[in-house]
Amino acid sequence: MVQDNQENFSKCGCEPCPSYNACMRGGSQKLFCGKDKSSCEVPMNGCICMNCLVHMENNLQSGYYCKKGKEE
Ligand code: SF4
Ligand code: SF4
Repeated sequence: MVQDNQENFSKCGCEPCPSYNACMRGGSQKLFCGKDKSSCEVPMNGCICMNCLVHMENNLQSGYYCKKGKEE
């Protein structure tokens, strides 16, 4: 379980992602692996979650959490 906290929010690497868009930026939405999927329409232009520290530290297996929600 990824903790939804300020430390992980700061570490989240979503912002340079090609799928991260103005809607998500405007709502300060990220850390989807520790929160829930985005309320925005998300284009599938690639996912860079696998390069993220939170992904490594929590042994996550997947990506596109902005679209699919958290990993179980
Ligand atoms: S794994 Fe993805 S959604 Fe989770 S903190 Fe990292 S970049 Fe953000
Ligand atoms: S969860 Fe993955 S696809 Fe979605 S914005 Fe973050 S890095 Fe990009």
